[in-house]
Amino acid sequence: MPHDFLQPLTGCFACPAGENPTVAMIEAAYRHHDLPWRYINCEVTPDNLAAAVAGARAMGWRGFNCSIPHKVAVVEHLDGLGESAQIIGAVNTIVARDGKLIGENTDGKGFVRALSRTCDPKGMKVVLLGAGGAARAVAVELALAGVAQITVVNRSATRGEAVAQLINEKTPATATYQPWDSTYSIPPETGIVVNVTSIGLYPDVDSTPDIDHDSLRPGMVVADGIPNPPRTKLLQAAEARGCKTADGLGMLVGQGVIGLKYWTGIDVDAEVMRQALNDLGL
Ligand code: NDP
Repeated sequence: MPHDFLQPLTGCFACPAGENPTVAMIEAAYRHHDLPWRYINCEVTPDNLAAAVAGARAMGWRGFNCSIPHKVAVVEHLDGLGESAQIIGAVNTIVARDGKLIGENTDGKGFVRALSRTCDPKGMKVVLLGAGGAARAVAVELALAGVAQITVVNRSATRGEAVAQLINEKTPATATYQPWDSTYSIPPETGIVVNVTSIGLYPDVDSTPDIDHDSLRPGMVVADGIPNPPRTKLLQAAEARGCKTADGLGMLVGQGVIGLKYWTGIDVDAEVMRQALNDLGL
């Protein structure tokens, strides 16, 4: 049988890129499923994003992820958007389809997939900390999954109000914006608290979102998007107060499963990916 030394390429463009463990998770899935594919983690600054996308195109990459700070900026370099990426206005997964680069968004879908192992979000009230690209994706998918109400708590009013407006206009849920200029107390009727700010991400591991930890009550579900380290100070505080928790590794695995389906057409084994992340001992 002839050898084929040309490996299908995928990867990630981000800045910083070094703290993102996705490469370990995806390459473990490729090995497990005997796929000769590779995933290359690249540090790409904003002024090099256009050239990086052109490079991926020129080299025939099958697709790539975009992370901080490229999820919105990458849109103008693509040939089209999938449906949920269009609503969200941000892209984290690019798929080469028939010679075109199409932007998809798996952040919110991955989050909901992971959260559903902890609770059924239908009818719940949500406090969403953050209003960046990941927060928009999570808010839209939670709304489509049937949550009743979302309070968007964010430092920048422009971004916070935009997410609330998006939910009110494009989904069946309702949302309000809450300014975040002092310690925020979680309302007692809240069912799910989600941190989708970048606060707590390595190396900034001692930082934690400015909320009153004593307003976290047993029975609330506290989910953190931060994958590294997965046991954030927020999740530790939530566990200490009897809350159920969902960590950022679950979200990362969830969106990885969906992304790999887009790229390879295969339903990859989520446990293999979670194990690869656990083995890193983050
Ligand atoms: P963005 O840069 O688009 O948004 C960052 C958000 O964090 C904004 O709401 C910003 O507020 C807020 N923020 C940052 N620093 C502070 C601060 N000091 N005080 C208050 N608010 C702050 O990033 P993304 O939305 O793309 O990503 C956010 C996080 O989600 C990242 O840490 C990323 O690791 C994580 N993530 C995890 C995934 C997973 O699979 N586990 C997938 C995707 C993302 P403001 O608007 O006021 O600037």
